[in-house]
Amino acid sequence: MNFLALVMILTLNDRPLDQYAPVLQTTLDRSIPIDPEKGYAIKKVKSDIYVLTDGIWQSAAVVTQSGVVLIDAPESYGQHIVRAVQEVTDQPIVILIYSHAHSDHIGGSQHLSGIKNLEIVALEGVAAFLREQKDPRRLIPTKTFQAAYVLQIGGKRIHLTSPLSYHAHEGDLFISIPDDKFLMVIDVLAPGYVPFKNLDLSTNVHQYLQVFDQILAYDFDVFVGGHLTSIGDRQDVLTTKAYVQDLYETVARVHANTNMMAVMAEAAKEVGWDNKYLLFKVFLDKVIEDSAQEINARWVNRLAGVDVWSHSHAAKMLEYVRWDD
Ligand SMILES: [Zn+2]
Repeated sequence: MNFLALVMILTLNDRPLDQYAPVLQTTLDRSIPIDPEKGYAIKKVKSDIYVLTDGIWQSAAVVTQSGVVLIDAPESYGQHIVRAVQEVTDQPIVILIYSHAHSDHIGGSQHLSGIKNLEIVALEGVAAFLREQKDPRRLIPTKTFQAAYVLQIGGKRIHLTSPLSYHAHEGDLFISIPDDKFLMVIDVLAPGYVPFKNLDLSTNVHQYLQVFDQILAYDFDVFVGGHLTSIGDRQDVLTTKAYVQDLYETVARVHANTNMMAVMAEAAKEVGWDNKYLLFKVFLDKVIEDSAQEINARWVNRLAGVDVWSHSHAAKMLEYVRWDD
């Protein structure tokens, strides 16, 4: 390998893989165990509410006297969903709710196409998008609504609300069962971990910053976030809210205190002033790097994966701080 190739690889992966912090023991300790032979687990979280997971995605099954309501059908373990539900109840699956349109969370619905009269409930925006997509993995919703809907079945009331556009363009749902203090909000936070890349693929950082208070306004003690290894609670929402707030304040402060012209002039000594994109990138990269270093130091013992995504989080937050805030 020549020197240039080596430099490029080192730049792409900012450090060797074994230099990343291992997943925190406290996060590992609360993980739902997955039997690798089966590839999934179904865990009771309330007297008749179950979480299905393969250790990366999560969905839910609500068992009622009038059938089972599924919430999401991840593509990764879609082929196991019917069998998993049969492990815990004789009731048939009658309704599927889509939290949002992303294929990884609902692409497993293709495996439910054989269920007669399956009602699929989604936001109208999600349904319109899926009708356009014509994706054989994602079944088309049969019942849609605009902003809020209360699903009543077999004595259960499942509240579906679309409060903010913090994540997907086509809309997202808060799915709550108040009588059971159960709340499912997908792709905001992963209990025990920092959020995923780019603040969980948020399309709107301004609203992402506010979504934690919207979640905390609900009365719940079980929180399902849709990803990774654990079931959450209020403390997980509070901890991730504090992380995101710290990220915001850190990036805003580092950005304000970094002298753009001085940083660019230093780089221009090396390459001249013609390549304005490059000089500006040197400034942005410095803000991102300095912010990420601070965030890593403060959070490495509190949330898993911080050094994996802190640069991504700082970069996403910098776009908001510099151009929106
Ligand atoms: Zn997701």
